[in-house]
Amino acid sequence: MDTPKAEKIFKAGDTIMSQGEMGACAYFIQEGRVKIVLEKSDGNLLDMGTRGPGSIIGEMAIVDNQPRSATIQALEPCKLLEITKEDFARSVKGANPIVRLISQVILMRYRDILRRSEALSMDAPGIRSAEESEREYAEQINVVESIKLANEFKVAIARKQLLLHYQPIYSISSGRILGVEALMRWQHPERGLVPPDEFIPLAEDSGLIIEASRWALGEVCAMLGRLDAQRPDLQDLFVSINMSATDFEERNFVEKFKEIVSESNISAKRIHIEITERLLLKQPTDVKATLDRCRELGAKIVIDDFGTGYSSLSYLHRYPIDTLKIDRSFVSDMRHDKSVLGLVKSIVTISENMEINIIAEGVEEAEEAKLLGQLNCDAAQGFYFSRPVAETAVFELLELSNPKSTSS
Ligand code: C2E
Ligand code: CA
Ligand code: CA
Repeated sequence: MDTPKAEKIFKAGDTIMSQGEMGACAYFIQEGRVKIVLEKSDGNLLDMGTRGPGSIIGEMAIVDNQPRSATIQALEPCKLLEITKEDFARSVKGANPIVRLISQVILMRYRDILRRSEALSMDAPGIRSAEESEREYAEQINVVESIKLANEFKVAIARKQLLLHYQPIYSISSGRILGVEALMRWQHPERGLVPPDEFIPLAEDSGLIIEASRWALGEVCAMLGRLDAQRPDLQDLFVSINMSATDFEERNFVEKFKEIVSESNISAKRIHIEITERLLLKQPTDVKATLDRCRELGAKIVIDDFGTGYSSLSYLHRYPIDTLKIDRSFVSDMRHDKSVLGLVKSIVTISENMEINIIAEGVEEAEEAKLLGQLNCDAAQGFYFSRPVAETAVFELLELSNPKSTSS
């Protein structure tokens, strides 16, 4: 009989994990008994006891990235449930940096005791102190800074420290702006403008991203309202907004989306939701339902950084996708690397066949824009056209690239 993927069967005498190996999973023992043996550096084996149903084994390797600290063998036929590093990472998501730091420290101390008991019995000199490892770890993950920043981010929205910049997306052939991508910035009172790469991961970890994304959506709609007042002729202009996996995990994501957009009187058609391939692979069923509902409201779905995730082309027809954004790395390499060029060409062909739009990201040079145009990829964004800029500057760019037609 087939066992579910997460379930593993071992016979009596089988080695379940070996000391010194890198481990990517822990196991929950459903049935059977195992014994834990630690091999000391003098070759002697230390019996660490046995474990039975209800116990977890191999848990250390999924918390830190160290080799297995012991060997575990099945004493009887065993049925184990696998807990992968990813499962674990998902469940500690939402935990703040303090929780992560504490769990790491506890583990380090435990590993330190193990090492020390070994060293003392062997009289080995020069063992590093736990204090040293902990300090090094804290420095390495920049924990103090992260904790401070994460705490400060909690008040960033309320104190109106968040703002959006917009990067125009151009049609290479017409030179017109088709839409803009909203990119979040944090105007920090002491640090100045903090880039999203520094605060988005923290906001995702703490779940505060949900509030930040809602704020961003409201702000995008308000911006479109202001634009409509000045340029009622630009009804086709869209705004892309980045959403993270954490946003999608929020159960009332679609309701909130609908509520915010309808309060603003902006057509949902003008809102493009950018997500990454990684998000699609995370919880395929839920994500599909959420995307379908967003699309029913009129919003468009965009796959960001296309080609950088664990690309599986099958999702292109499984999910409702309107646009693919070709990642910046392909755009910068395509002129010097034939295989990358081939890849870009294939993406264009697939998109054409599937009636999916494409946007090239990170265009920095005229030559790149020219080549993209020749490859039939007309929509592009990048520093060559414009950096992300404040709202007023975008409105000025629109006056230049999309002037009001004089006949109307
Ligand atoms: P992204 O969504 O891929 O956004 C494009 C990033 O590339 C932006 O960086 C943009 O400034 C930068 N970029 C644009 N053109 C060029 C170019 O020609 N060359 C180079 N080298 N870079 C270019 P930014 O604004 O620092 O944002 C970084 C990332 O942070 C974004 O990558 C996105 O993943 C995330 N992010 C930004 N705003 C938000 C947001 O509101 N919500 C969420 N969840 N994530 C956001
Ligand atoms: Ca994006
Ligand atoms: Ca991108």
